[in-house]
Amino acid sequence: MSTILSNIQQVRARIARACDAAKRPVQSVTLLCVSKTFGSDAVREAHAAGERCFGENYVQEGLAKIDALADLRAALEWHLIGPLQSNKTRMVAEQFDWVHSVERLKVAQRLSEQRPPMLAPLQVCLQVNISGEASKSGLAPHEVAEVAQAVARLPRLRLRGLMAIPEPAGELEAQRRPHRALRELLEGLNAQGLALDTLSMGMSADLEAAILEGATIVRVGTAIFGSRR
Ligand SMILES: *Cc1c(COP(=O)(O)O)cnc(C)c1O
Repeated sequence: MSTILSNIQQVRARIARACDAAKRPVQSVTLLCVSKTFGSDAVREAHAAGERCFGENYVQEGLAKIDALADLRAALEWHLIGPLQSNKTRMVAEQFDWVHSVERLKVAQRLSEQRPPMLAPLQVCLQVNISGEASKSGLAPHEVAEVAQAVARLPRLRLRGLMAIPEPAGELEAQRRPHRALRELLEGLNAQGLALDTLSMGMSADLEAAILEGATIVRVGTAIFGSRR
């Protein structure tokens, strides 16, 4: 059996066990395979194993892979999960299905203006700096409500929820804390009249903690494709 296939089976089993522990249906969690730095062959292999959602960090690399996998375009969903500068929004609006890393209203406005009318609205999440790390991107928690209300009104975007990359933590209880904070932030927005259904949180090291706190998309790279160089 190929490594990617057996890794995917192991990750699916981890997700299933975590859903079980959280008393959540396994279909309530989507596996986003983070293929950054790996080639289109690795994506083909994961697709052959039954996966359809792929996450890329770097716009140029993602666009090159989308192009190399054009024959599978209708079968795949492409998610941008890395930083997006406003001068790169057009290609993203034209080529990707989701952007998890929106952190400025101006970028969201450009994505909405540039999303081609024949495509479905671009699905977006706001990235939140939930651990308050000085070096990390994302909105501060207190900034989220105002930006969310504005992004939710943009015609060619559909605001789905929040994304975070918490600071790594050792044990389960410590891992759960930032994920819980992100869920509470989402619940607060929904109490203000938004209807958000997506918590993009949890990676190779902490997907169990994220699922226990309500993650609906886990973004997994290393545990599927191996370590990056
Ligand atoms: C690289 C990356 C991931 C995947 O991380 P792993 O630890 O390799 O699973 C998830 N989310 C973002 C935003 C990333 O940049």
